[in-house]
Amino acid sequence: MDHYKLLTPGPLTTSATVKQAMMADWCTWDDDYNIDIVQKIRFQLIELATTKKGYSSVLMQGSGTASVESVLGSAIANNEKVLVIDNGAYGKRMAQICQVLKVNHQVIHYTETTQPSINEISEALAQDKTITHLAMVHCETTTGMLNPVEEVAAICRQANIVFILDAMSSFGGIEFDIGNLDIGFMISSANKCIQGVPGFGFIIAKHSLLEQCKGQAKSLSLDLYDQWQTMENSQGKWRFTSPTHVVRAFAQALKELAGEQGISARSKRYAKNQSLLVHGMRELGFEPLLPTQLQSPIITSFLSPQESQYDFKRFYLALKSQGFVIYPGKVSNADCFRIGNIGEIFPEDIEKLLSAIAKSRYWL
Ligand SMILES: *Cc1c(COP(=O)(O)O)cnc(C)c1O
Repeated sequence: MDHYKLLTPGPLTTSATVKQAMMADWCTWDDDYNIDIVQKIRFQLIELATTKKGYSSVLMQGSGTASVESVLGSAIANNEKVLVIDNGAYGKRMAQICQVLKVNHQVIHYTETTQPSINEISEALAQDKTITHLAMVHCETTTGMLNPVEEVAAICRQANIVFILDAMSSFGGIEFDIGNLDIGFMISSANKCIQGVPGFGFIIAKHSLLEQCKGQAKSLSLDLYDQWQTMENSQGKWRFTSPTHVVRAFAQALKELAGEQGISARSKRYAKNQSLLVHGMRELGFEPLLPTQLQSPIITSFLSPQESQYDFKRFYLALKSQGFVIYPGKVSNADCFRIGNIGEIFPEDIEKLLSAIAKSRYWL
C-alpha cells in the first residue's frame, strides 16, 4: 500500500524521485558535491526569487527557524532595532528570537485572525526613528493567512527600512519578486513549497546587507555572514557538516519545479487544490476560519464541527486510515483543524480526500 499523503505545512509529501535522490552518500569535500550541487542550488534560488541584480543566497543547516534566527541574530546591529509584526505563531517566534538573542525590537501584536494594519505599521515607524528593520511573515501558517507583503514593502521602501520576510511557507508556491518588493532578507526552507525534505533553510538577501552582517552574529553556528563567505569563497562549502542527502533531494526538487514550468505553474496547481478543497468542504458543511480575501493558497484552517461527539484525534485517525494525514489547529481563540495543499499533491488527491472526509463524518 502507498504511504499516506501529508496534507500538512511541511514536511510534506515529496515525489518518489526526490526521495530516491537521497540514496547515495556524498563527500562534502569533493567537487562533485560542492561545485556541482551547492553552487547550482544557490544560483537557482536567486533566479527563482528575483530578476533584479544585487542578491545572493546562503544555505543554513537546521529547520526553518534556524535560518530565521540566523538573520535576526546577524542583521541587526546593537545600535539598530527591528519592528516585528505578530499575527500568529511564526510572528511570535520572531519576537521570541529577538528576546532570547537580546536584539533591540518592538512588536505590534494582532490576534491570529487579524491582518496587520498598514496605518499602524506606518505610525510605529514614524514614531520611533531608531527602527531600522521590519520583520513579518508572508503566509502565516498558523491560520493560512496571507499578510499584505506589497503594502508593507512599500512602507519599508519609503521609510528606508530593511524588510525581513519570513516566506517559509510561501516561497515557491506564490509568485512574487523580492527585488521588485525591495526585500532585504527573505527566508524559506527546503521542506516547503520547493518540495524537498527537511534539514536546511535558505536566505536570499541583498549583497550589500550581507556585507553589513560581518562581525555582528550573536551565534557561532548561525553566523549568516560567515556561512555566506565560506560558500562564496570555497565554492559552495558549508562551514560545518552539511546535510548532504537533503541537499541532493533539494537539487532534484528544483529540477522538478522547473519541469512543472516553474513557480507560476506550481502556484496555479496549489491555488486549484485550495479552491477545490474549500468548495468541497463547504458542501460537506465545514466552514473556513478566515474570509476568502485573507486566505492563502497554501494551508486552510477549518472550524471544528459543532457536533458534541466530534473529536479531532478520531477524525484524524479515520482520515489517516484512508491515506491522508491532516494537521491540528493552532489558533488560540478558535477550535479548528488545518489542511495543507502544498507538496506533491494534485486535484485528484483533493477529490479523494473529500470523499474520505465525507465517509469519516459518519464516524464522528
Ligand atoms: C514552517 C515555518 C517556519 C519554520 O518552522 P520550522 O519548524 O523551524 O521548520 C517558520 N515560519 C513559517 C511561516 C513557517 O511556515
